[in-house]
Amino acid sequence: MIRISKEHVIHAHSPLDTPAAAVDPGTVVEFETYDCFQGQMLPEEATYATYDRSLANPATGPLYVNGAEPGDTLKITIRKVEVGPVGILDAGGTRSGALSGCLSRNYLRRLPVHDGYIWYRDQIRIPVRPMIGVIGTAPAGEPVSTVVPMDHGGNMDCTKIAEGAILYLPVFVPGGLLALGDLHAVMGEGEIGNCGVEISGNVTVQVDLQKQTCRPWPLLEDGTHWASIAYGETLDIASEKAVRQMYEYLHRECGLGEEDAGMLMEMAGDLITCQIVNPCKTVRFQVDREILGMFLAGKKQPYKQGLR
Ligand code: CA
Ligand code: CA
Repeated sequence: MIRISKEHVIHAHSPLDTPAAAVDPGTVVEFETYDCFQGQMLPEEATYATYDRSLANPATGPLYVNGAEPGDTLKITIRKVEVGPVGILDAGGTRSGALSGCLSRNYLRRLPVHDGYIWYRDQIRIPVRPMIGVIGTAPAGEPVSTVVPMDHGGNMDCTKIAEGAILYLPVFVPGGLLALGDLHAVMGEGEIGNCGVEISGNVTVQVDLQKQTCRPWPLLEDGTHWASIAYGETLDIASEKAVRQMYEYLHRECGLGEEDAGMLMEMAGDLITCQIVNPCKTVRFQVDREILGMFLAGKKQPYKQGLR
């Protein structure tokens, strides 16, 4: 197994970055990650007054995958997400997304994380549900800040990017240049404040290569769903993209006819807001995989008209 330490830190997904490591497809790689503050807020005395925002939201990498070329897809199987012993949560203040204006000031807490729980005021324990906030390849053109989600992935803040899931990311430059970070011990859907429970950790993935899939956006599967993930300047734009991407996947890649694809999406598809706090919003459209399986099994059978 290859390990990439958090000293290999980036703050933009860039085609110009020097790879931290190069591996063949099928290799298992462990990424050590900082929290989204790059550790600056861990000391008890730390405040935003001394916080260097230029270090915000770092990712570890990038990883060069041998043989990866534009038009390919990296298949990233997330084997393990381990989080550190302390998470940081803040709420309120002007940087707090939709919560901004609800609270009179900023509150920042360092929360112990152990035994599978986040401990809030000793008595209140919230089950840990680790997720990866930032995971992306490099775009082909200008570098994209690790604060921003786009078609290469990046700061998607999708709760389904977690242990056991498989994430498919497009390759835009040779090697793909995969980087990840910004773990959350837990985060509610939509990231309505400034953050989740921000935490350092280690992520173990297996990286495989799929040639010439020509799918230039992120796709995910887990035990219950297939999901397209889309970004946009507004939720409306991101939502329409997520729906169109899933339709494209079902019709072009799964071979469902347009009637079946449309009706499946209406009956067993959910549009879910991933986050509304980043410079671009992210949305996912997820389809129940058991029901999709029934549609795929029956796709060659003619539809019998009539009510039953
Ligand atoms: Ca994030
Ligand atoms: Ca975060």
